[in-house]
Amino acid sequence: MTQVGPPQFDPIPIGEIAKPPFVKLPDPSTMFARRSQRLRSLADKHELRAYLTFVSDLSNVQHRVQSKLPLPEPSSAAETARSREFNMPPLDRSRFTRDPAFDALWQGLLAMAGHIAMPDSARLALDAVKTSDPAAQAAMIAAVLDGTIPAATPAEHAFVAAVAQVHFCRLAAQLDAETLRPVGDGVCPVCGSAPVCSLVVGWSGAENTRFCACSLCGTLWNYPRIKCARCGSNDTIAYQEIAAGSAAAAVKAETCGSCGHYVKILHQHANRSLDPVADDIATLALDLLLRESEFRRGGVNPFLLGY
Ligand SMILES: [Zn+2]
Ligand SMILES: [Zn+2]
Repeated sequence: MTQVGPPQFDPIPIGEIAKPPFVKLPDPSTMFARRSQRLRSLADKHELRAYLTFVSDLSNVQHRVQSKLPLPEPSSAAETARSREFNMPPLDRSRFTRDPAFDALWQGLLAMAGHIAMPDSARLALDAVKTSDPAAQAAMIAAVLDGTIPAATPAEHAFVAAVAQVHFCRLAAQLDAETLRPVGDGVCPVCGSAPVCSLVVGWSGAENTRFCACSLCGTLWNYPRIKCARCGSNDTIAYQEIAAGSAAAAVKAETCGSCGHYVKILHQHANRSLDPVADDIATLALDLLLRESEFRRGGVNPFLLGY
């Protein structure tokens, strides 16, 4: 038997030791296309097959609509400097104003969505959004941006959220990741929104570190393991899953006894195709399980309203 000594590594110069980046900005040219593919593969043999296929088609529209759009107006240097001075995210949702790029996106996405197969109730909702007046549109956009979507009209707001996600993703992609800083626990450092869920990643140089995924702009931000992605407490964190060893076990619910919420955690290092929005929807059974507990859902997903 051959004796094998300890593995030899090249010395790593101090200062070059790999560490996870604080943020990974979204790439609008791939994010929605990958999500659409993931949803389509999840739909196969899934009890939510029709719905997953619909969201896959809508994600595909989010991807394709961008090809003919002008770029959204970026924040001015003065606004960016000001938000940094006050420890605020650079994309201020509360001061959102429509620009020509947003209007073109709104028109284009809603028109393309009309070609997707969907139930009559969803088509009625799409038509209601298309024919709404500017004041009603502004109210729906505001509800999506500040996370106060009324429970009575989830389908209308899902279409509006599809528009808002593309717009904010394209704005986020224009930022310089090096200038971004944490702005608070459970808050996207780019746009201030809540996470949809978190991911343990397998990226080279960042293996087994965790990132929260923004529910609006798609930014991923580095976040400690075993810490509530909603309130930041690490006192009473526990994990729940549906069936250990099954494919669904790659997604767990991280429960927090301090704030009483749970946010899903995706073990993406084990399966790179896991997508925060797609796999959140496909693991609705985990939400139904948690519904029987004292914990409430903490992740935000405009396509999982009224579950
Ligand atoms: Zn964000
Ligand atoms: Zn918490």
